[in-house]
Amino acid sequence: MPEETERDCLFCRIQAGDIPSDPVAQDDLTYAFRDINPVAPVHVLVVPRQHVGHLGAVEPDHAPLVAAMVRTTQVVAAQEGVADDGYRVVINVGRHGGMTVDHLHFHVIGGRPLRWPPE
Ligand code: AMP
Ligand code: ZN
Repeated sequence: MPEETERDCLFCRIQAGDIPSDPVAQDDLTYAFRDINPVAPVHVLVVPRQHVGHLGAVEPDHAPLVAAMVRTTQVVAAQEGVADDGYRVVINVGRHGGMTVDHLHFHVIGGRPLRWPPE
């Protein structure tokens, strides 16, 4: 298994095909799939193919990867029909942020009005 993929990481295993997922979009650097426990009509996770643990582990070398995550988010929003009405992109970090899977991911959430601020 490549160094950039972690055997015990759920999102690395999903991308390796070990665990099924419902794909929405992808490119060379990213993969987008439906959240198994959606909080809104549209709830898609956008992850880098490479294992990056969390936002705090992003380094300057990751710039193309982060740009690709943004691009894939735009594609997901368009495909899912939420680009015009709007949507939310969330990155949870750490315990207080509510992060439960230690592989960087954007939540792309939409399809209904969302409250602000979050609780
Ligand atoms: P976070 O709490 O920000 O780390 O988000 C992790 C997300 O992964 C949660 O919204 C979970 O519902 C979602 N999730 C966990 N397991 C799976 C899975 N096997 N397939 C798709 N989404 C998952
Ligand atoms: Zn991973």
